Amino acid sequence: MVSFRDQRFLIDCGEGTQRQILRSGIGFRRLNRVLITHGHLDHILGLAGLLSTFARWEAIETLEIFAGSWALERIHDLVFGVVLRGARPPLDIRLVPVEPGLLYQADGVRVEAFPVTHRGPDCYGYAFIEESRRPFLAEKAEELGVPAGPIRKDLVEGREARLPDGRVIPPEAVLGPERRGAKMIHVGDCARTDNLLEVCRDADALVIESTYLEYETQLARQFGHLTAKDAAGLARDAGVGKLYLTHISRRYREKDVLAEASQVFPNTSVARDFDQFQVRRPD
Ligand SMILES: [Zn+2]
Ligand SMILES: [Zn+2]
Repeated sequence: MVSFRDQRFLIDCGEGTQRQILRSGIGFRRLNRVLITHGHLDHILGLAGLLSTFARWEAIETLEIFAGSWALERIHDLVFGVVLRGARPPLDIRLVPVEPGLLYQADGVRVEAFPVTHRGPDCYGYAFIEESRRPFLAEKAEELGVPAGPIRKDLVEGREARLPDGRVIPPEAVLGPERRGAKMIHVGDCARTDNLLEVCRDADALVIESTYLEYETQLARQFGHLTAKDAAGLARDAGVGKLYLTHISRRYREKDVLAEASQVFPNTSVARDFDQFQVRRPD
């Protein structure tokens, strides 16, 4: 789950997702957008359980499921064929086809989709990009005698402000130079990294699969997956801030995965269920 202020995006929905959401205590409120990386069952089966929970949850009126067209067909069958079987949906379910490019933009964040190579067509990764902004310089405002309250809000939002003494303050007087926002990249199952270099460039966080270890590279190639070393190589080459590995095969010990990746890219974590991380710019 990616949260930005009061917006939430669930990325993929494997079996047991709804149960883990319950256990995590994060709740289902505003959980109205699901982004699917691809249509393999371990990434979509949980939609069935999630929907049956939502059926008893009146707070959610609309659920948007974003996915490539192949995945969307399978999700359609699962939701309308298996779960609902002709019954009226308990909420408005919108299946939204994903194409490369801007997918969503609101309240200070935008989400972009980009193609990922894996088994089968229509696999996507997602970039979460916080809008750039100009920081409010509180000392400057103090110097100019700008009182706290709604006047400052006007200036922060780029409007000029008239002070009680009649002076007009332009926003430029109290705003610093523009700074880019934080950027987070999520890549699901993935067979190669060379075509992801540009999209991952300078991301503050990269979340990506790492199904295999290097000694089983052959299996990784055969099934369209990455090794920990592959993932770390991408993080290093793209200059990302922090690497989070997911989709680890149960055959491996976490410390072995971490050791392999850290040799190439030290700032790596192996993500576990219920972990929470904050994504920030380095400054
Ligand atoms: Zn897959
Ligand atoms: Zn998978």
